[in-house]
Order: sequence, then structure tokens, then C-alpha cells
Amino acid sequence: MRPVLTRRRFVAGSAAALAALGSRRGAHARGGVVTKRTRLVMLATGGGPRPRTERGNTAHALVVDNVLYLVDCGSGVARQLVLAGIPLPTLRHIFITHHHSDHNLDYGNVIMQAWVSGLRTRVDAWGPPPLEKMTRLYFEMNAYDIDTRIADEGRVPLVPLVHAHELSQAGPVMQDERVKVTATLVDHPPVVPALAFRFDCPDRSIVFSGDTNKSDALARLATGADLLVHEALWVAAVDRLVARVPNAATLKKHIIDSHTSVEDAARVAAAAGVKTLVLSHLVPADDPAITEQMWIDAARLHFKGEIIVARDGMEL
Ligand SMILES: [Zn+2]
Repeated sequence: MRPVLTRRRFVAGSAAALAALGSRRGAHARGGVVTKRTRLVMLATGGGPRPRTERGNTAHALVVDNVLYLVDCGSGVARQLVLAGIPLPTLRHIFITHHHSDHNLDYGNVIMQAWVSGLRTRVDAWGPPPLEKMTRLYFEMNAYDIDTRIADEGRVPLVPLVHAHELSQAGPVMQDERVKVTATLVDHPPVVPALAFRFDCPDRSIVFSGDTNKSDALARLATGADLLVHEALWVAAVDRLVARVPNAATLKKHIIDSHTSVEDAARVAAAAGVKTLVLSHLVPADDPAITEQMWIDAARLHFKGEIIVARDGMEL
């Protein structure tokens, strides 16, 4: 629910009281109604590329003043946006943390689906190399459909709308009138580079870990942030998870070496001094033996702030 003030309460409130409300709830006044400027929607919250009934492949949406900033594009992201009531043509920026398919599989598709839904404005995409090549090849692969729709449906040319920017190092990424985005390098072997992003929005600051093992660089990036969205691994369940696949031994080593246990995610949140830890990109994503309360209890041992276990579609 969005916080709503009636006009009478709004008029009666002092400027100081409203300012306090705004900073506490991340709200601002618009025509007497107070709404949240920055919405965080957990579109899909599972780790790993397998399709599942629970927890889709990773995608998160930041909506600031009704403008969409998308962080990762796992399979199904466009439909998750529709289910969340976020209009696809509001897509303005895409951020890819790293090139594993559970984070980028629908990168081109979500742009295409925004375009067929009415997008006519610029989209900037930010992520590790070879993002420019991926963008070019995606449009080449889909040239027949794109050209047909321009001629047949009167759509604006898509390719000139999309601008890909490759990121390989820590530092400032972009800034506009709504957000300032900063990246750091995290450690997710063998994928290099792998990025975490911090968004300083008008009313709160939100950090996305991407995929990483326990990262001091991430803790520094997240220092003092309101929310840290951190990947989380339930180590004891890895054997059950990998038992289903033929490449079990190799997959187990990758998972342990390149991800963060829920306990360490909590330690990073504590080191950064964030207000809220949001556990997302859960691995395993669909093991009914691991309940939400178990994730929270494991994190609670190491972090005293608010802990949220993300679910697909959850708005924060
Ligand atoms: Zn990954």
C-alpha cells in the first residue's frame, strides 16, 4: 500500500511534520496526496537459470517518479513487470550485474516487448562487456520482426533508441534528475567483471549485490544505505540442489566459491550499517524444506536491522 494523506491532514500538517514524514516513509506531496517517489519491486527472486514455479530468474525494478530502472533481466521479466502493473514503455535504463543467463536472458526481449507495448523513447543499458555486441546481435537476430513492425504497424525504429554502455570498473555509472548510480566490482568467479550497483534515489538509497561471494567492496558501496538487496545461499542445501543434475561436483564448487551464505550476507549488511537487508536471488530457490523463517533466523544472528525475505512481486 502507498501511504496516503487526506487533503485535510495535508493542509493541517506543518512543513516540518511533512518533511519528517517524507524522510521516514520515502514520500512526497503531490496535489495533497503523499506518494512514495521510489518503488522497489522484487520482480523475480530466485538464483539459477532453471525455470521454476516458485521464484523466477533474477530481476528487480526501481520505479522513480514513474520512470523504470531495471536491474537484471532474467527470463520472464517483461511478464513480471506486467503482473506488477509497471507499464513497459516507462522503461528508461537497464542495468546488468553480470553475464550469467539468470540475469541477462531477457535483456533484449524486455526492450523488444517494451517497444511492441508502445515504447518510443530512449533506453540506456549498462553492464559488463560484451553488452554492446549482445545488443547489436540481438537486433540483428530480430531484424525481420523489427523491420516488419516498423513498416506494418507504424512503429518508430527501435535500434536508434537503444544505447549500450559497457562497464568494467568501479565508480560512478550515471546520474540524472532522479537517481545517481554507482558500481563496484564484486567477486563472482569465473565471471569477470561482476558488478554491484548502488542507487541513490530522492528518498532512499538501495544497493543490489548482484552475484558475489562475501565482499568487502560491496560493504563499502552499501555503507549507510537504506536497503541492501543481497543474494543468499543456504549452504546446507547445496548437496540436495546439485543432486538433481549430472554436473553436480562442478556445480557445487561454483555455487560455494562464487556466492554468499545467508549468514555472510547478514555480516555484510551489518558491516555496511544498512537499515534493511532484503534477501533475494535465493539459492536454492525452491526447496520447501527451507522456510522464510529459517532464512530470517540465520541472518538474525549477525544483523540487528530489519530483514526481509523477498518474494516475486513484493513491493518495498
Ligand atoms: Zn551469477
